[in-house]
Amino acid sequence: MHELALVEEILGACQTAAASHRVQRVTAVHLTVGELAACPDALRFAWEACRGRFRLLETARLEIQEVPARWACPHCGGDYGEPLARCPQCGTGTPRLQEGLELRVDYLEGDDREGGRRGTIAGTQPCPSSGGSGGGSG
Ligand SMILES: [Zn+2]
Repeated sequence: MHELALVEEILGACQTAAASHRVQRVTAVHLTVGELAACPDALRFAWEACRGRFRLLETARLEIQEVPARWACPHCGGDYGEPLARCPQCGTGTPRLQEGLELRVDYLEGDDREGGRRGTIAGTQPCPSSGGSGGGSG
């Protein structure tokens, strides 16, 4: 279950970001998770299990924005929700994965040292995309 390792990495990165912004308490962490990147339920489970070890995130909620996987034909631009060996529209292209592998922290919500003021911290990228952006023809 790689979600546990991912969540630990995300929590660590969020704690570092929160500390550097003098946030006393993170109230929510917003993630964008591609359908093929990780299982949201497993992430939520790991989140509950791990967040207590990170002082600034003990009570932080995890908000997940799920992104469905999507393939597009490079030839005709046809758009599909499943991997296909051949484009059903033009028959000549092989649809390539466009979305569905992303995993990133969009932003954090937190309370700063004054207490009342709430702020957000722009996203960090705890997980370097593993071979996602290979552009050339393979
Ligand atoms: Zn096509």
